[in-house]
Amino acid sequence: MKLTSIGYMPASPAIEEQEDWQLFCQNIDLLLNNEKKILNVANYFFCQPSFMYCSFPYIQGDGRLPLGYLLLSWQNRLLVQPCPDSHCGDMTLITSFSGSPLSGSNYWSGYCTNCRSRKSGSRTDIPFYEVVIFVSKLRQTFPAVVKEIEEYNGHQFCWGGTGLEPVIKKRIVSKAVGDSVTLAVLIQELKAGQIRQGKPVNVRLLKRDFALKLSGSLRTGSVNFRV
Ligand SMILES: [Zn+2]
Repeated sequence: MKLTSIGYMPASPAIEEQEDWQLFCQNIDLLLNNEKKILNVANYFFCQPSFMYCSFPYIQGDGRLPLGYLLLSWQNRLLVQPCPDSHCGDMTLITSFSGSPLSGSNYWSGYCTNCRSRKSGSRTDIPFYEVVIFVSKLRQTFPAVVKEIEEYNGHQFCWGGTGLEPVIKKRIVSKAVGDSVTLAVLIQELKAGQIRQGKPVNVRLLKRDFALKLSGSLRTGSVNFRV
């Protein structure tokens, strides 16, 4: 028997990814300057352009990365790498990455705010599995979908009458924390100053400090985020 495990593969058309990427590059300063607004509104937080994703086998948690996750990961320097161009010396904001938690081999792609262009490379500053763990914890702490118990009217068998009697039943339903907007809509609303009064990402969870300590060179990295 042969067991094979592969990671997430972007399924969106290349043209869509290219358009999103261009939009991102043209408006990166706008997005960074409005970080707090994006983190506070679920519709913005869960905006997931096609070029933002992670991919790794064996462990759950890969797939599209919401913009909110990346902003938090840029803030705590986890998804930031030195620009590979020797003449630059600035930092690259990672927008996608892939790798193996077992071998540690990995690849990242991102945007250098100094060169104003796409950069890529592989990292050796921390073990790849630490990045995987961090993303998994982000997904647990800020889930895009929550499960709720919903009551509904149903029937159950009984020996008398028609053989059925009304009863309240329960079922588990999945609900999106917020309908995510596209990157184009987000940028349009930020430019127009029409910030939504949408739901926070998750009030109950955000009232706790969200802090993840990392080993290695990022030992001091943490995210503290309060509403
Ligand atoms: Zn650069």
